[in-house]
Amino acid sequence: MEISPNGNLAQNISLLTNISKYRDSDEEIATEANGKTPRAVFSTPTLHNAKNIMPEEDSQTMDTETDQEEQLQDAFDFLSRLPPMPSAPRNKVLPIKTRSTSRLTLVLDLDETLVHSEAKPISNPDAVINLIFNGVACNVYTLFRPGMYEFLHSVSKKFEVVVFTASHKAYASQLLRKIDPDRKLIKHRLYRDSCYNLKGNYIKDLRVLGRDLSEVIIIDNSIQAFGYQLDNGIPIVSWFDDPNDCELFNVHALLIHLLSVPDVRPILRQTFKLSRFSAQ
Ligand SMILES: [Mg+2]
Repeated sequence: MEISPNGNLAQNISLLTNISKYRDSDEEIATEANGKTPRAVFSTPTLHNAKNIMPEEDSQTMDTETDQEEQLQDAFDFLSRLPPMPSAPRNKVLPIKTRSTSRLTLVLDLDETLVHSEAKPISNPDAVINLIFNGVACNVYTLFRPGMYEFLHSVSKKFEVVVFTASHKAYASQLLRKIDPDRKLIKHRLYRDSCYNLKGNYIKDLRVLGRDLSEVIIIDNSIQAFGYQLDNGIPIVSWFDDPNDCELFNVHALLIHLLSVPDVRPILRQTFKLSRFSAQ
């Protein structure tokens, strides 16, 4: 089955639902999942716009098949037109590994992967951030994805955890300080200024990490965001406010499996087949 703009995208979506086969292999937090079949895993089409400090996602739920098809189509359109990969970034943003650094580096997106934030008040936010943006004070209200802390506590023991967000540092650094005030869960924090700016679309070129890419995994709700290293990616369904979401538990099971393989890319390539999105 080929992913094609002319094909049946509902069928294509089914290519991206293979996380479930790893669920039984996990002995830890995945057993806390509520037993629901994981939803289709796909990206939202939105990349972060240079004008905005906040992500562009709105809070509408995106779990209908039509929405999924549209988003998958957008991802395909974007990636099929992606220019060739630029020359490798000269400056590597992470410190050199030490003997105590975990073998695998786990890169986590922030917005709609771990949290959802809005500029307008929402009931019972998990965090409220005060920002001054363009000289104007404003609040940002954030919800944490179900299982976020359990997930971070677990992966921080097994992986070198990096949060890499295309959002502006002024917002994201404050939020990450609230999520992990003692810096025990997230080893490194990277922001928009570490992304590759492709005409206002911010792409996370994983080569900037300075790590062997056979040992790097990225989890992101936007396939486009890791378009230059599709074989390193785990696309996760965008999260806004569903209290019954269990995708982090399900992704965790796949991560445990990856701990035992020498190169994560063949497994991820076979599981999600995202390279079919790429024209290159
Ligand atoms: Mg995101």
